[in-house]
Amino acid sequence: MYRTHTCGELRIADAGKTVTLAGWVQKSRKLGGMTFIDLRDRYGITQLVVEADAPQELVDIAASLGREFVIQATGKVVERQSKNPKMDTGEIEIALEGINILNKSLTPPFTIEEQSDGGEDIRAKYRYLDLRRGPLKRALELRHHIAHECRNYLDANGFLEIETPYLIKSTPEGARDFVVPSRMNPGEFYALPQSPQTFKQLLMVAGYDRYFQIVRCFRDEDLRADRQPEFTQIDCEMSFVEQEDVLNMFEGMMRHLFKKVLGVDIPNPLPRMSWYDAMDRYGSDKPDVRFGMTIHEITADVQGHGFSVFDSVPYVGAIAVEGAAEWSRKDLDALTEWVKRPQVGAKGLVYIKLNADGSVKSSIDKFYTPEQLKDIAAKVEAKTGDLVLVLCGPKRKTQTQLGVLRLELAGRQGLRDPKVFAPLWIVDFPLLEWSEEDGRFYAMHHPFTAPKPEHMDLFYSDKKEDLERVCANAYDFVLNGNELGGGSIRIHNADVQERMFQVLGIGKEEAEYKFGFIINAFKFGAPPHGGLAFGFDRLCALFGGQETIRDYIAFPKNNQGRDVMIDSPSKIDQIQMDELCLASTVKE
Ligand code: ASP
Repeated sequence: MYRTHTCGELRIADAGKTVTLAGWVQKSRKLGGMTFIDLRDRYGITQLVVEADAPQELVDIAASLGREFVIQATGKVVERQSKNPKMDTGEIEIALEGINILNKSLTPPFTIEEQSDGGEDIRAKYRYLDLRRGPLKRALELRHHIAHECRNYLDANGFLEIETPYLIKSTPEGARDFVVPSRMNPGEFYALPQSPQTFKQLLMVAGYDRYFQIVRCFRDEDLRADRQPEFTQIDCEMSFVEQEDVLNMFEGMMRHLFKKVLGVDIPNPLPRMSWYDAMDRYGSDKPDVRFGMTIHEITADVQGHGFSVFDSVPYVGAIAVEGAAEWSRKDLDALTEWVKRPQVGAKGLVYIKLNADGSVKSSIDKFYTPEQLKDIAAKVEAKTGDLVLVLCGPKRKTQTQLGVLRLELAGRQGLRDPKVFAPLWIVDFPLLEWSEEDGRFYAMHHPFTAPKPEHMDLFYSDKKEDLERVCANAYDFVLNGNELGGGSIRIHNADVQERMFQVLGIGKEEAEYKFGFIINAFKFGAPPHGGLAFGFDRLCALFGGQETIRDYIAFPKNNQGRDVMIDSPSKIDQIQMDELCLASTVKE
């Protein structure tokens, strides 16, 4: 037996027991004639002590221990002289009688403690050492806990966990595919799934009316904004359901997770907001509703006063920043520069200050009387002491810019507390999104999303304006400004599906080639169905109160998509290239 207890287990009540522990030497230090060793395993840290009068052999072994040596240590649990209330095992130590070195270790390239001195790159290269640290261990424990509770809930509700293949063909999420060459079918490729979308729908056709899978998905996207090329979804689908059934089932799941994992009660029922309201009031389809500062349209209020900038645009909108009337000229200049950055893209920023003494100051006071400015500010729900910030331009674009500004200012004002959770559903998405650039419609969610039954006439119209008005029974689960999940009621009728491909400008042949199998399946008694998928990595990060998903993935990639630990991607040898009928055009 390697150990009788773990390093996180022993307490004062165990005093007097002879125990054997096994683990890694976190640190060892000499004090007088005594040696103290912190022994670590997954469960915690226990202090070991070799007394000054211990046999010489034991003193020598203790002196030879380096950081991260793996040892087995036997001794008696004794009460500590100086207790450490910060450690679970801080009231005891083990007076050693024997040490067995199970394996030596090179000196680790960074300290393996709660706070490491290692930079991100070196820790990524030695991820297996970084994973020994408390914060990462707790992150993976949290991930396990969430997955476990997720399975508990779905199992209790009759869902079957069914695996779907990884070597498939292109799925409809619209990102770039990762592809795998097929040796047995020269010149042909599999695509890795961007999600199991088509398979879960086929499972519905097959009659498995409640499916889920905690599943890896692959998307070859640019990796800004904390994305990973492979990530995990909680993927779900149900048959014989309407939107209401899906929302109820899965807000039930989120309620269960919040309660079981965090001990937090979320509202029942969850708030819902239409996509149009979210855009109008928050400038985002994933609004952070932990705080107000909502967007107000003031176009009619500001036009016709001789200010040509406002008179020449279709939309003027504003937000009120609480207590910010005292911001200096310099602060406002800096903020103006900030909104002009390409990431935000505004042309300029107009302000109205409602000073504490009741006066108003504005960058446009040449065109408006103080009374008019006060009226405009009142429309934005600004109070004395607040600052009104105004942007203008095309409607959705300006709202989006105001949304970005809103988040930035909330961040600066500390309104985005990671311990506060404000989940909600966004519903009533438009089915289609027009791309000026490509001169065609794209599916806002994906091409299997059904138009709302009451919009079927519009869906069959040939007019662009009509098609733009078609709404879908699509929904997103949003938490603290993150789209944590999304899904829809699906098309289950082959004719409607074909019409959808037509609207998207996907020709019959292309539709047949890419999705013929599913259109065909719909001809064999496809039940009405719908579902959704949650981003599991992000869910873990938000539950853990962290910004980045990387800490919640045991072996993540960096933002060039590289695994620097195993050095991948990497070249393959010529024999393999030949077998796969591949030729490289990369110049050495
Ligand atoms: N497959 C979709 C996605 O990955 C989710 C869904 O519609 O269920 O976004």
